[in-house]
Amino acid sequence: MATIFTRIAKGEIPSYKVAEDDDFYAFLDINPLTEGHTLVIPKNTEADYIFDLDEHTYEGLTKFAAKVAKAIKKAVPCKRVGVAVLGMEVPHTHIHLIPLQSESDMDFKKERVKMSEADFAKTANEILRNFELL
Ligand code: AMP
Repeated sequence: MATIFTRIAKGEIPSYKVAEDDDFYAFLDINPLTEGHTLVIPKNTEADYIFDLDEHTYEGLTKFAAKVAKAIKKAVPCKRVGVAVLGMEVPHTHIHLIPLQSESDMDFKKERVKMSEADFAKTANEILRNFELL
């Protein structure tokens, strides 16, 4: 059975898309640590663990994530875009990109930010707009 993230990339489950190409898809985390918290996934493999990806997919994913991080930095006020790979919940490789004001923003145990549907849509559109300008 397809993972939830494969179904998101196919559009079978809704998401707030921030970037896409033939091989990769990026969308807002539904339970964000900070505004603009994004997940970047490969579309064509469901490998659970990033370091099990074939070299081509691994390199493509990290390159795509770097471009998404640049778009996030332009769209969301932050000092840095933090990068994390956990995979404790969803067994489909994904990179977290998290706009940071301070180290504590990367604490995965902290309370998540509450965002309305309109906030999610606005943030996603702004990142997507910047991504398409890169
Ligand atoms: P982990 O597998 O530990 O890296 O965590 C999975 C992340 O995916 C969590 O931050 C969740 O909030 C996020 N997540 C789970 N389901 C969805 C979904 N349907 N849309 C967006 N983000 C999701």
